[in-house]
Amino acid sequence: MADPVVIATWPFGKTATDTALPLLAAGKPALDAVIAGAQAVENDPAVRSVGFGSLPDRIGQLTLDSCVMDGKTLSCGAVAGLQHIRNASAVARRVMEKTPHVLLVGEGAKWFALQEGFKLEMPHTVEAIREWFEKHPEVKKKPGGRQDNFDPVDINVIDESNHDTVTVLGLDKNGHLGGVCTTSGLAFKMPGRVGDSPIIGAGLYVDDLAGAAGATGVGEEIIRIGGSLFMVEQMRAGKTPQQACELAAKRVNAAAVRRGVHPAACAFLALSPKGEVGAAATERTNFQYAVSKGDKTEVLKAKEIGPEV
Ligand code: ASP
Repeated sequence: MADPVVIATWPFGKTATDTALPLLAAGKPALDAVIAGAQAVENDPAVRSVGFGSLPDRIGQLTLDSCVMDGKTLSCGAVAGLQHIRNASAVARRVMEKTPHVLLVGEGAKWFALQEGFKLEMPHTVEAIREWFEKHPEVKKKPGGRQDNFDPVDINVIDESNHDTVTVLGLDKNGHLGGVCTTSGLAFKMPGRVGDSPIIGAGLYVDDLAGAAGATGVGEEIIRIGGSLFMVEQMRAGKTPQQACELAAKRVNAAAVRRGVHPAACAFLALSPKGEVGAAATERTNFQYAVSKGDKTEVLKAKEIGPEV
């Protein structure tokens, strides 16, 4: 018997871990508990980067990306660019359980969800757009450039100030690991852009024999290093979850150096089959994560790893 542990990205991850821990304590499988936790965040309209109420893409569409993975069987499922369905993580799980495939995208993912009985719903993009512009009055005044004068029409610009993902990793009483990753991706992304979050091996990877790992941050950089599979393989080779996360952050830094750019904000989370936790991020990410075990939940700040000089 293992002592249940659940961890999740960002302070809003506390909503997920507080939901998941009692389920784990009651003996539920890790995958059930982490998906219930992720759905609590998806359903919170105050979270602008996960689920409904999230910020849309450049043409006002809210599209959701998610994946799930079961560490016992390596079963996994994912959806990308899903529109008008509230809980992308639940659809990802259905892809895992009901199809021979791992990833469904766009209209195909939506039709599958409808076939499975999910409801069509209107996302709150009008409010989300209004809120975003209220917080960024400079956008209207100064088009072009990055971040503080972000131009949603310039396809070469990523708005690094508006994105986040809830990645939830859990260990259940039977010693099995489960994980889920769910997001609306980068705010004002190009239509059709997909980040790391629905990509098994990038945003999430879970294997009972090695560990569970997940990511948040600029998905392009996480995909580039195969972030989550990389961390799980580090743990399989004997590294602690903390070492695995730090090595992933170093990989992002090294990849940025090779491309002659400044490392983007990327953050990593890992959980070993014994319940040890690790977290690390690239510089100035201010990455915080929630950990629930025993009778307490803590929100902790992750170690930041700068580029080597
Ligand atoms: N990783 C997500 C993406 O690139 C965004 C985030 O976690 O901040 O879509």
